[in-house]
Amino acid sequence: MSIDQVLGNASAELHVDLAAIINNYETLKSQSDSATCAAVVKADAYGLGANKVAPALYHNTDCDTFFVAGLVEGVTLRNILPDAKIYVFNGLFADQVDTYLDHNITPILNDPSQVALWYGKKAPCGVHFDTGINRLGFTESQTEEFLNTPNDLNIDLVMSHFIQSEIARHPSNEMQLDKFERVRYQLPNAKGSLCNSGGVFLGRDYHFDLLRPGIMLYGGNPGLPVRPNGIKQAFELRAKILQIREIEPGMAVGYNSLWTAAEKSRIALLNVGYADGTLKTSDRKAKVWVGGHMADVIGKVSMDMIAIDITDDKFNHVTVTDYAEILGPNITLEMVAENSTLGHYELMTGIGPRYKKYYKV
Ligand SMILES: *Cc1c(COP(=O)(O)O)cnc(C)c1O
Repeated sequence: MSIDQVLGNASAELHVDLAAIINNYETLKSQSDSATCAAVVKADAYGLGANKVAPALYHNTDCDTFFVAGLVEGVTLRNILPDAKIYVFNGLFADQVDTYLDHNITPILNDPSQVALWYGKKAPCGVHFDTGINRLGFTESQTEEFLNTPNDLNIDLVMSHFIQSEIARHPSNEMQLDKFERVRYQLPNAKGSLCNSGGVFLGRDYHFDLLRPGIMLYGGNPGLPVRPNGIKQAFELRAKILQIREIEPGMAVGYNSLWTAAEKSRIALLNVGYADGTLKTSDRKAKVWVGGHMADVIGKVSMDMIAIDITDDKFNHVTVTDYAEILGPNITLEMVAENSTLGHYELMTGIGPRYKKYYKV
């Protein structure tokens, strides 16, 4: 029996709506009249499966450019999409030069030592200029020196990255735009790229030639006050009920006895836990959707399980092997984020490998 057949019996399911991702892409692209739109599919497309998400975008939209974090992700994607343009954010290291070249993957150079490693190569590269986040990319003084020294690079992308583009009125956005424009002006032949998901909604001054959204392709929100029209949560997580038990008043459930039954209660155990991205339930705000109603999650996550309270009569028809919605149309990312203090990035990239994945186009 192949592992895929075994996974058919998995106790938790991830359902991905590829059509919704395609629609989200079109919505993001339509925000700009000048730029084309790439897709950031790092971290396995934010937990949803880059091997399915990237081809869906490549074959059903005009998206032909993908960004990943590391070279391993880049090579994996190259094997799936032989003709796509693939950039790697993390940069170039001495032991990786041949791998980049052999797989036609484009490194984004983040400092002068990486420029030296790409010396004499005719293959294109991107260059990342830091405009304030103090993370990857050329520092201000390195940028000055780079722009004033001739180089033989075949640069096809100049990029920078926002500190907090999801906060539209934050003055750092304009400050970064200003710095980026000055760099861009001196490297006019390369495409310019500044906008992550939040940046896309800052307006056309920010768009340049290539948008780089990630989380909003999947329907997550980087922190805008409201999810923009046309951006839909493109996935759903479901977990199976492993066992149901009746417990007496005064009995406690789970590690550290954080929840005690006030009355005769009916408890269901669901098969999701830490490794599936369910990180926090002990604050008693978490909910799941089961049998057509909201149910409270009770007690602490038990490594691979959570418990829910299905005492109320409205849950009478709920039985073992039923599935509960953990995240989806009824339990939205917004709700879980608010109740858990985890952001959409953490909730999505934490999804983990144990779900049986289903894709709908
Ligand atoms: C992750 C990332 C993106 C995409 O960011 P989202 O907020 O998910 O849209 C864009 N650019 C860089 C450099 C990134 O690291």
